[in-house]
Amino acid sequence: MDTKPILHIVIPCYNEQEVLPETNPMFLYKLNRLIKDGKISSQSRIVYVNDGSKDQTWELIKQYSKENNQIIGLSQSRNRGHQNAVYAGLMESLDKADITISIDCDGQDDINAMDEMIDEYYNGSDIVYGVRNDRETDTFFKKTTAQSFYKLMDIMGVESVYNHADYRLVSSRVLREFKKFDEVNLFLRGMFPLVGFKSTSVFYKRHERIAGESKYPLSKMLNLAFDGITSLSVRPIRFVTGLGVGMSIVSLLIIIWIFLRYFTGNTISGWASNATLLSLFCGVQLISLGIIGEYIGKIYLEVKHRPKYIISERTDK
Ligand code: UDP
Ligand code: MG
Repeated sequence: MDTKPILHIVIPCYNEQEVLPETNPMFLYKLNRLIKDGKISSQSRIVYVNDGSKDQTWELIKQYSKENNQIIGLSQSRNRGHQNAVYAGLMESLDKADITISIDCDGQDDINAMDEMIDEYYNGSDIVYGVRNDRETDTFFKKTTAQSFYKLMDIMGVESVYNHADYRLVSSRVLREFKKFDEVNLFLRGMFPLVGFKSTSVFYKRHERIAGESKYPLSKMLNLAFDGITSLSVRPIRFVTGLGVGMSIVSLLIIIWIFLRYFTGNTISGWASNATLLSLFCGVQLISLGIIGEYIGKIYLEVKHRPKYIISERTDK
């Protein structure tokens, strides 16, 4: 009887028809290598989650799973975004696997780090974060924006592992606890640290995308940062309150100054300073309202309790 842990490699795919034919054999090779090395059970599987792709991605996944029973395909009913796709794969693997590793399907994350991740699991870690130790292959723009992303998360009070994306080993023990996190707004890399358990990091070199284009343009990255912050931290709201207090003190000083000018008979009315102050305060108020509105929007979505994923097709049933 095979007593090794069953591994599910969870791979989200969105419009990846160019890259899948390249990376599918790589993932399969890795899985079988790990089985041969006696690290994981022969019942281990690759789980592709099609995130409502508009190209041939799902057809490819179906074909792969027909050719090889080590491959399972799940298809989301529509595009729900990377985080929800990963979540769907993890939750569907919860009862079938002992450990899961989530990884992007574009070959950027070094599959060889999986060996070390599994070793760390054997050493007693329930979560193993894959961390990039360099960004040489990223463009200057991607590098600086990504680094500012992690800095911003930190300043805004979201606990996350620096330079860790969603390449991660998680045991089913952690996933069972994670399932109890009821929030609809998902920011996985900031949520797993909250679950606790013994965790560690393994470092790897990040490669260039094998084919196709990044599905994470700056706009999506900014959205992710904003969602991450407003889902997991109330620091921005505190910041708004602080700003309000600060501005009140400033305006109090200004009022004192105006009175002094008035009593010294120096009352030439300055339209410019008035207008400047007015616009300044307007700006601050709008920003503050915007941030508060963002949180109300989040609450609105949470209250609805919509399902976090909907699988419309699958190859394993
Ligand atoms: N992805 C997804 N849904 C989306 C966008 C992306 O499932 O709406 C997947 C994509 O197929 C890939 C992973 O998420 O496997 C990361 O995307 P990408 O490589 O484009 O991001 P980058 O590495 O450039 O940050
Ligand atoms: Mg990528």
